[in-house]
Amino acid sequence: MSIALQLDGVSKSFGGLKVIDDVSFGVPTGSRTGLIGPNGAGKSTVFNLISGVYPIDQGRISAIGQDITHMSVANRVRCGIARSFQNIRLMPHLSTLENVMLGEHHFSRPWELVSSRKASERARAALERAGLDTYPGQVVADLPYGIQKRIEVVRALMAQPKILLLDEPAAGLNPVETDDLRRLLQSVSDSGITLLVVEHDMPFVRQLCNHVVVLNFGRKIFEGTPEAVKHDPAVIEAYLGTPDAMESHHAA
Ligand code: ADP
Ligand code: MG
Repeated sequence: MSIALQLDGVSKSFGGLKVIDDVSFGVPTGSRTGLIGPNGAGKSTVFNLISGVYPIDQGRISAIGQDITHMSVANRVRCGIARSFQNIRLMPHLSTLENVMLGEHHFSRPWELVSSRKASERARAALERAGLDTYPGQVVADLPYGIQKRIEVVRALMAQPKILLLDEPAAGLNPVETDDLRRLLQSVSDSGITLLVVEHDMPFVRQLCNHVVVLNFGRKIFEGTPEAVKHDPAVIEAYLGTPDAMESHHAA
């Protein structure tokens, strides 16, 4: 089994408090890996360490066969790591099409968009593949939240990532929007992109993911299949409460 992303003995402290403590796990190539655990467990911090937002204190991170531990954010993007953030970071007053075009990394500022027809065609095609072809000209602020979350995913795809990191993509979505998002992520996965997803919606994780890592107080307490995680005593104690949490819509 080939590994797209590997963390080895990763630690990170903020103001003397160790929030990531000797964490190691692998994200298999082509997998849909879920990173779960209680609030404050360190999931978003792990994303910030993988994407290079925070420097790492100890350990090693490798992606697509390269050591990225001390690589700049921009070089990690070039390596094929893209992410979406826990809170939406679309530009609300730009159109869907313009927001998606901004996902191509050579467009870092809105005024650079001018009228690159090629980029606009690529953005339209990406929206169409995601089933969002009815919205290209609409201002993002006017769209339902569920559509905005899918546009964020499409924008991230414009960087042509090999690994896509998603931080709580289903938060705030209703069940219909959640299913639409899951189908989009499944199709992204089918196109060969490796997914690492932080999410509290456990039925969503069970349906989407084929590999699961659990963090608690900055430590890894489980790594394995979605089937095994729901029966793991340490995970039930720390997070799930009951194996049924993976089935019903009453997870934390
Ligand atoms: P999760 O995403 O699992 O809810 P986080 O990674 O956001 O958890 O946070 C883990 C811990 O690290 C929390 O105690 C949080 O307060 C702390 N933390 C995260 N980022 C910072 C920061 N930039 N400065 C100080 N503390 C931080
Ligand atoms: Mg978080």
